[in-house]
Amino acid sequence: MKTMAQEDCLFCKIAAGDIPADRVYEDDSVVVFRDIEPQAPTHLLIIPRKHIVSLAHGKSEDQELFGHMMGLTSKLAEQEQLPDKEFRVVVNAGASAGQTVFHLHIHLLGGRDFSWPPG
Ligand code: 5GP
Ligand code: ZN
Repeated sequence: MKTMAQEDCLFCKIAAGDIPADRVYEDDSVVVFRDIEPQAPTHLLIIPRKHIVSLAHGKSEDQELFGHMMGLTSKLAEQEQLPDKEFRVVVNAGASAGQTVFHLHIHLLGGRDFSWPPG
């Protein structure tokens, strides 16, 4: 897949390998790496290589990619050997939802108990 990197986007630079990250998985369409400020023993970020601002900016042609990203969570939970294969997935879409990096990413968190509701 041709990558359409957005200039000055941190996660496009990580996807391209221009900024280092602790990568745990990658394929033609996605890269997965450890969050620099982990909020749990396992805290992964699943990003598309393609620059998409947020889940609110996906196009109909992105549905397969979104399904692929979500489908990877189970495989990654196994790879991370999360106890009982339990984990939380979070996607912040927009500043008011807590998004700080405007390149779509799925947070995969595990290895501890989580509370609800989120803050
Ligand atoms: P958001 O708040 O947008 O949902 O999540 C952005 C996440 O990216 C945060 O959890 C933050 O710690 C992580 N992050 C920000 N900059 C970097 C970086 O340079 N490298 C890595 N690995 N993670 C980053
Ligand atoms: Zn980007």
